[in-house]
Amino acid sequence: MQASQRIKGVLGGGSDGWEVFTRARQMISAGTAVTELTIGEHDIGTAAPILQDMHRAAMGGHTGYAAVPGTHALRDAVAARFTAHTGVATRRENVMITPGGQSALFAAHTAVLDPGDTALYIDPYYATYPGTLRGVSATPVAVKAQAADAFQPRASDIAAKAVGAKSLLINSPNNPTGVVYSRETLEGIASVCRDHDLWLISDEVYDTQIWEGAHISPRALEGMAERTLVVGSMSKSHAMTGSRIGWIVAPEHIIEHLINLTTHTTYGVAGFIQDAALFALQQGAAFEAEIAEPFRRRRELAFGVLAKQNVVRAVPNGGAMYMMLDISATGLSGEAFANALLDEHHIAVMPGESFGDAAIGHLRVAMTIEDRAFEQALQTLCAFAARLA
Ligand code: PLP
Repeated sequence: MQASQRIKGVLGGGSDGWEVFTRARQMISAGTAVTELTIGEHDIGTAAPILQDMHRAAMGGHTGYAAVPGTHALRDAVAARFTAHTGVATRRENVMITPGGQSALFAAHTAVLDPGDTALYIDPYYATYPGTLRGVSATPVAVKAQAADAFQPRASDIAAKAVGAKSLLINSPNNPTGVVYSRETLEGIASVCRDHDLWLISDEVYDTQIWEGAHISPRALEGMAERTLVVGSMSKSHAMTGSRIGWIVAPEHIIEHLINLTTHTTYGVAGFIQDAALFALQQGAAFEAEIAEPFRRRRELAFGVLAKQNVVRAVPNGGAMYMMLDISATGLSGEAFANALLDEHHIAVMPGESFGDAAIGHLRVAMTIEDRAFEQALQTLCAFAARLA
């Protein structure tokens, strides 16, 4: 018996780009100390008051089947937060609670694509994007953002691939580059979506991690609320990665379909997780800034290290918990550099190639370890690059 073509095709053949990460984990299991700057997970756990609220909710009995689209209170809180951030009136009926952003991405594409539809996404991309698109039986087509444009995608490049396409997936603040899309970039994207009648899936899971400029949700741009599905998550904003809690904000008729899908897939999110998520949202913007602060600090430390040399160059990262470093002056690919750095210095970073062709000759460094160790690892990386150059 054979598994379906669809499920076998999720990985799309070839490398999944995680070899350096896997090798680092194998070295750690074998007892070697490795400095890991690979995955996007905070070096702190979920805050104790949120866990206490989760415990209170579970002990209070919110352990049975919970409301499939999310509790009224949580949907209202997400809608109010979205309205406050974007100025677009958003109601409970525009919100569905999901088990994290990843499942929201899958559900959002299921809601707007039929099998075989062309789904555009921007390269460099979050590693799961092409697999998510293949998983819903769409045909993924990448549009490259150029390093020379600081990875801000050009509207003309998207338009060139938009004929016959059905959707476009974007992510700002961006993983892996840390780039925050400018208003000009987003206006350009919005006009391509309107001209070519594309659905826009906007992955905004890093919306609280802004170091320069401002986060603009394209749902707030003219004529976009009716064609945009926003994916949100509390993984990054509230250090709740393991709780699996996120949402989709979308037109009401899309949410109605998504609720049907959820009834037939996850059946919603545990009630005690939803209650804790509500409690976490009620802590407001100051709490979100506190969770984001270590990344802001480490970014400054990184700029301090990079300023003392001229081989490794940083992509201007206005947000998110990553730095994208251009190491092309060493003559090595990101993959060759990352493997050599792991072997010689036991520092694990992600090759840019793990995130698409556009990031060749780059590395993604997650700012997710304690300040001093982070600074030292970057110093070692730069000295290593200088020796190679
Ligand atoms: N989108 C982006 C761009 C991400 O980087 C991640 C996780 O790293 C996700 C979505 C999924 O996050 P989660 O499922 O934890 O909400």
